Amino acid sequence: MRAIVVGDAGGPEVLRLEEVEDPEPSPGEVVVEVAAAGLNFIDTYQRGGLYPMQFPFTPGLEGAGVVVGVEGDVGEWSVGDRVAWSSALGSYAEQLAIPFDKLVKVPEGVGLDIAAAVMLQGMTAHYLAFDTFPLVSGSVCLIHAAAGGVGLLLTQLAKKMGATVFATVGSAAKADLATGAGADHVINYSEVDFAEAVVEIAGERPIDVVYDGVGRATLIKGLGLLTTRGLMVAFGNASGAPEPLDLLDLMRNGSLYLTRPTLFDFVATPEELRSRASDLFAWVGGDQLNVRIGGRYDLQDAADAHRALEGRQTTGKVLIIP
Ligand code: NDP
Repeated sequence: MRAIVVGDAGGPEVLRLEEVEDPEPSPGEVVVEVAAAGLNFIDTYQRGGLYPMQFPFTPGLEGAGVVVGVEGDVGEWSVGDRVAWSSALGSYAEQLAIPFDKLVKVPEGVGLDIAAAVMLQGMTAHYLAFDTFPLVSGSVCLIHAAAGGVGLLLTQLAKKMGATVFATVGSAAKADLATGAGADHVINYSEVDFAEAVVEIAGERPIDVVYDGVGRATLIKGLGLLTTRGLMVAFGNASGAPEPLDLLDLMRNGSLYLTRPTLFDFVATPEELRSRASDLFAWVGGDQLNVRIGGRYDLQDAADAHRALEGRQTTGKVLIIP
């Protein structure tokens, strides 16, 4: 079968299409024919060396497809089932073997491409909005990169919870998307200082929670916008890993809280994984959550997909199609 293989850490050019052995499932694993793999920013951290990996490896944690084989006891799964996943390394491939308890069922009425598109970023938006900082009516949040994969979904969920959303984006076209997702105040931080813009709109320190997946370029400045005892959620490094923080800055800015969460601790059990996925599929199926697929790349063009994501050229979800 064909798969993308990364032989060593590097730029997008290290993503090479190769002919490899078909997956050999171990007991408890399910072999899936991949219909679509999801591109996520973490794929670039793993490819580039920010997150250490064992080489060679096939990237991609997320996807959806159809079961074509099972080995041993795999619970409810059988050949022909439509499934999706968010934490199975090796998804940039025609097939992969996945431990059965990492799969969720894709309901009828939800396409496999939409399922692949909503799993990782959707469950991230879900835990950020419901668990890391449970948004309620009247909460005021700032969402960076709001036209991105996580951003568009988190903006919609925040509005669903009744929050006021300040959103940052890097272009006018992205501003339209954030507005379409329901953001109340959209700031193009490529053109203006986002902190000054927030203060101009709402006064000093109006934000209860900053959701920051951008990292180095925004994190420190965002602290100055938080209300007393507000929460900084540093959940990503799209512009690079943030500089080390002086703990006393949390005190000086009003007894702030800071957390650095990762999805994998919020879908740590099969029950939690299924519960979050089931909420998302219900909202998607019921037209309560719009999943924007902003780009599709053939498997052999995975490097171009990475270039686009790292070059801030993408919006919403990008899929890689084997
Ligand atoms: P996005 O689709 O949001 O793409 C990243 C966006 O970040 C870009 O489109 C761009 O939007 C913005 N950005 C700002 N500065 C830069 C820069 N220097 N280089 C590249 N992009 C920049 O990606 P994802 O939705 O996949 O991920 C968003 C963030 O969330 C990432 O940091 C990711 O690691 C993190 N994440 C964390 C998870 C967790 O559980 N901790 C799980 C999933 C994602 P603009 O042009 O509008 O600025």
